[in-house]
Amino acid sequence: MMKSKSISPLSCLVCRRRMGFIFSYHRYDYFRCSGCGLVTTSPYPTETAILNHYRQKFKHGNYSLSRRYAASYLKVYHHLAIRLVDYCRSHGLNPNESRLLDIGTFTGDFLEAASQQGLEVYGTELQPEAVKIANQKFPGRVFQANVLITTLPQKNFDIITMLGLIEHLINPDELIARVAKLLKPGGVLMLQTPDSGSFLARSLGKWWPPYAPVEHIHLFSRPSLARLLQKNSFGSLVFMPHIKHLPISYIYQNMQNFGLEFYRLLKPLKPLITSLHFSLPFYGGEVILLAQKRSARTPKS
Ligand SMILES: [Zn+2]
Repeated sequence: MMKSKSISPLSCLVCRRRMGFIFSYHRYDYFRCSGCGLVTTSPYPTETAILNHYRQKFKHGNYSLSRRYAASYLKVYHHLAIRLVDYCRSHGLNPNESRLLDIGTFTGDFLEAASQQGLEVYGTELQPEAVKIANQKFPGRVFQANVLITTLPQKNFDIITMLGLIEHLINPDELIARVAKLLKPGGVLMLQTPDSGSFLARSLGKWWPPYAPVEHIHLFSRPSLARLLQKNSFGSLVFMPHIKHLPISYIYQNMQNFGLEFYRLLKPLKPLITSLHFSLPFYGGEVILLAQKRSARTPKS
């Protein structure tokens, strides 16, 4: 077990203030920024640990679970795409003339929902197997690329989306800076991520499922997201809780990835729960954020 108190407190990635130790969990320590509320894992997992983690995950079927419930997730994405389009329209963008990039698009399910709303869609993804599936739906439009270091054929975009992405990165600040460069002035960003300042996160402490070492590194709060985006020329921020309608059987099985303690606790009821295929509104303490890159005409907000 790591000696948490011996690790020197980190300074916050977003506001550079001192971070305070909150708890240890699965051999990692967690620190919260006293200024903006960002929660950071310490130490950062090594590149080898990250590679091994995703390799294991791929092997043991997390992705097959996502694929099995793709139709349910498509409905979730459909609602997100509608919210995105509404925001775009009310901020001067015509979705039918907009080019969207989904970073970390996985198998392109959100691209399907966005294209149904009339958007011209592109995606990037690191997993080669997922890129292959996505490209069957959108030939030539999904690139196996890391946007931080790769120049895409399309130099800029009207809309960028990142769903469940920034919490996985060691350097989300670099990604947001890159996104601000890829977006046209007045362009829109939508991201979705766990909210470490949510009531659920605060109540559950280390048992909040998004505290998943190696997988999730930085857990943002709303103020930390707001600061990071404002530093990168974004304004008109709108936050909303991410409530998803998902089958009970999926929610339970996904606890093997996030919330293993709850999965084990409910194991005696597993045959019953996994037979429940109807959907209920589910809130796991995640947030959706919409923001607009400032143009000369966009006032600060
Ligand atoms: Zn901070």
